[in-house]
Formats: sequence, structure tokens, C-alpha cells
Amino acid sequence: MNFHVLTLFPEMIQNALNESITGRAINKGLISLNTVNIRDYATNKYKHVDDYCYGGGSGMLMQAEPVWLCYKDVEKKIGKRPRVLYMSPQGRTFDQKFAEELSKEDDVVFLCGHYEGIDERALELIQPEEVSLGDFVLTGGELPAITMIDCISRLVPGVLGKDDSAVYETFYDGLVEYPQYTRPEEYMGLTVPKVLLSGDHKKVEEWRRNTAIERTKIKRPDMYEKYMEEHKNDFVKKKQKRVNKSSEI
Ligand code: SAM
Repeated sequence: MNFHVLTLFPEMIQNALNESITGRAINKGLISLNTVNIRDYATNKYKHVDDYCYGGGSGMLMQAEPVWLCYKDVEKKIGKRPRVLYMSPQGRTFDQKFAEELSKEDDVVFLCGHYEGIDERALELIQPEEVSLGDFVLTGGELPAITMIDCISRLVPGVLGKDDSAVYETFYDGLVEYPQYTRPEEYMGLTVPKVLLSGDHKKVEEWRRNTAIERTKIKRPDMYEKYMEEHKNDFVKKKQKRVNKSSEI
């Protein structure tokens, strides 16, 4: 999978993603990171890429031309219209489901604004999907792009040690993750739940699912309600099974 980041601060992106798990994935060729400096597409002598806003107001705005030329060049090199995301607090909020959808693409372009943002005409020409990291305003789109690329990369086959590492995590099936423990078995008087030491995989699975449901109810009641609504038929079926079993006895 190829990530293309259009930015005024390519080093920010490279420094963050060339480390740890994403860095290893890049070295192994599982993902690629192409950062493109929008400033390289400025046509003026001083390589200016921003200017004052028409109509007044404080702050500078990224000009349409370098952004448009930069995008067109990247699109040409990809050879087809890719998914293009404009990092913007005005867009749809990024989430795990969207990350899963994007992880199936060959190429995703991330357009990072800075200062007051980007001249509207560049956005009209490029027609990107606007994606937000959340309801707050950052100084630039670089941190959202880094965050989203990190999240999407984990879903690309081979990037995590085991392909199922992402399967049982928070959000995967609408629940937060169950509690996890590693050695030692006892720390400061606190012990690991016995079932996890039992070696009984069925019981461990059952415990994990039940504690994930309990935790979701406490920590994320919004997710819990959605989960219960989506799984209400499973619970009815389970109850019916129990009733049938007890009437057989
Ligand atoms: N004037 C813009 C507005 O009110 O919508 C905000 C501009 S912000 C200071 C500069 C850039 O940071 C934006 O163009 C965008 O690329 C990025 N940005 C800021 N907050 C963001 C967020 N929550 N999610 C994604 N990108 C964000």
C-alpha cells in the first residue's frame, strides 16, 4: 500500500513514520511513504506558498497553484485517480471503520493544510474527501496524516507480527478490548485472573468476550448500546438455547 503525503513539512512525516512498526513495514516494502513538498511547486522566485486572505482577517492561506500542481504531479505518477483525503477539522471524523476501508486501497493521498488552511479553489479542483481527527483545531494536517497512516498501516497484512493482532483490539467488533496481563503472575499483591492461566482456550475466549462487554458498558456506554442493538438477535438465540436445554433435562 502506498501513502502519498502532500505537505510543507515532509520531515515531520518522515521522522514520525520511519520509526518502530511503520518504519519496519516501510523497510520490508509492505507500505511505502512518499512525502511531497508542496513548496517545490511554487512558481515564484521566493518559493512563497502562502498569502493574505482576501476580505481581511489575520493569518495566511496556502495558495491554490502550488497545491494543485503538486496534486496533479502525484496523480500523474500514480497513473489513476487515487483516494484523496484533505486533513480538515470540517470533515467526517476518522475512525476504525474508515481505516479498514482505506487499508484496502493501493494508493491514498493525504493533503495537509497549514496556517489558515488552503485556498478554496484548490479544493474545488482536487475534490478531496475531507477527514478530521476530531472536533479541535490543530496548526496543520501533518499530525492527523501521521495518525491516520499509523492506524491504516496496522491493518495492512503482514505489518503487525501476527495478522490477527488487530482483530481483537478495541473498536474491531464494536467493543473495547478486554484487560490484558503479562508476567509476573502476581505484582504488588495483584494477581492475574485464574482463567487466563488455565490453558482452556474456550474459557479464555468466553472470559475475554464477557469482560470486553462489561468494560464497554462502563467506559463507552454509547458503543455498548450500539453493540447490544446489533447483537440482540444473538442474545435471544442464546437464551432460547438455554431454555431448550433446561426443558430437555
Ligand atoms: N481555518 C481552518 C478552519 O477553521 O476550518 C482551520 C485551519 S487549521 C489552523 C490548519 C490546517 O490544519 C487545516 O487546513 C488542516 O489541514 C489541519 N487541521 C487542523 N485541525 C484538524 C483536525 N481536527 N483534523 C484534521 N486536520 C486538521
